[in-house]
Amino acid sequence: MDDIGERPSKFRKLDTSEDTAENVIKNESMDNPAELTSPPSVKEEEQEEDPLASIDAPATSAVAPPPSKSQQKKLIKQAAWEAGKDYRKAKRKELHKAKVARKAEARQELEEKIAKGEIEAPVVPKKQFRRPMQVPITFLIDCDFDEYMAEKEIVSLSAQLTRCYSDNKSNQYRTHLVMSSWGGRLKTRFEIVLANTHLGWKGVKYLDSDFVTAAAEMHDIMKGPEGGKLAGALAGEGEGTSEVKIITEAHQEVTSEISDEALSAQEPSIVYLSSDSPNTLDRLSPNTTYVVGGIVDKNRYKGLCYHRACARGIQTAKLPIGEYMTMQSRTVLTVNHVVEIMLKWLETGDWGDAFLAVIPKRKEAKLRVKRDEEEDESENEGNGEEEDGEQVS
Ligand code: SAH
Repeated sequence: MDDIGERPSKFRKLDTSEDTAENVIKNESMDNPAELTSPPSVKEEEQEEDPLASIDAPATSAVAPPPSKSQQKKLIKQAAWEAGKDYRKAKRKELHKAKVARKAEARQELEEKIAKGEIEAPVVPKKQFRRPMQVPITFLIDCDFDEYMAEKEIVSLSAQLTRCYSDNKSNQYRTHLVMSSWGGRLKTRFEIVLANTHLGWKGVKYLDSDFVTAAAEMHDIMKGPEGGKLAGALAGEGEGTSEVKIITEAHQEVTSEISDEALSAQEPSIVYLSSDSPNTLDRLSPNTTYVVGGIVDKNRYKGLCYHRACARGIQTAKLPIGEYMTMQSRTVLTVNHVVEIMLKWLETGDWGDAFLAVIPKRKEAKLRVKRDEEEDESENEGNGEEEDGEQVS
């Protein structure tokens, strides 16, 4: 169905072309977007001025056929949408003002209580700035899925990649970030619509080669002087050893440890992440490339990445979500959530914490494992909603 023609009936998007991460975040952060979706109905005079008016006007071109009934309906809806623009803008402003006022009131109340000695002033710990540290791990986004995605899914994916970059940049332990099979509409979007901003992203590589070749290149870089240090959850791993640990379906731990001498001759360690894999990731290992499928498909292509990895003889693993969480919905996550979870793991070494911090609230994820009293009581804090690009709800 015609996507553009369909949009007015849904009243969903303000701008169809610029669905960037920023826009998505902006739209989602509005207090109550539902209230903005009911613009005033279009008055008859207004409708007459709009596209429909031309229906009765003398035809300028002899061949222009009159619009069909459904086209007329669409045009009316489109006109209503246009007419509601100012209303929605005013409503947004109103909501924003009310929010600011509410916050100011709450702050004043708190200050008064503190002044009266009713409550103690909260001690706000100063956030210490710690320089991000490079670790010898690569997150590689396999961007070879152009033909599987609709245009708007490409837009979502570009927003997700932007998120991956900024999350990695601000993480305490920074990984190497690579986009393999860089090309197609995704690349064009970054170059033209997003005005090549990606070229300014430090530490991100864009390679034409496929994920296997790109991972081999990263293997050498991770072993080299710029590879990074074993820090965070990787601290204590033996220097000079590479260990890939995943748990197979048969509940056997598969660990391959390689000595220094063997290391240079060693095959690159690659794990393709897929929720369809029978194996479960236990931990992240140094000198390893973790491949994430760069695709937004709302799960139309189940098993696509899993089969791609198997065909190339690459080991696969799913995140240990089932081991740590009980969830209401399925566990196919977006590219940026998968990356964010692994980044969090690098900081804490705790999958439970990582899932709680990242998995969207609406998935109602709760910790399965009782770790200690306090955490057991805690609610899932999540990181807010990330509708855009979610695979399955
Ligand atoms: N149908 C696609 C789904 C893409 S989801 C497929 O065949 O995989 C985008 C990517 O995020 C996946 O390719 C996978 O690399 C990663 N991913 C999503 N959920 C995951 C999970 N639970 N465990 C491991 N990787 C996951």
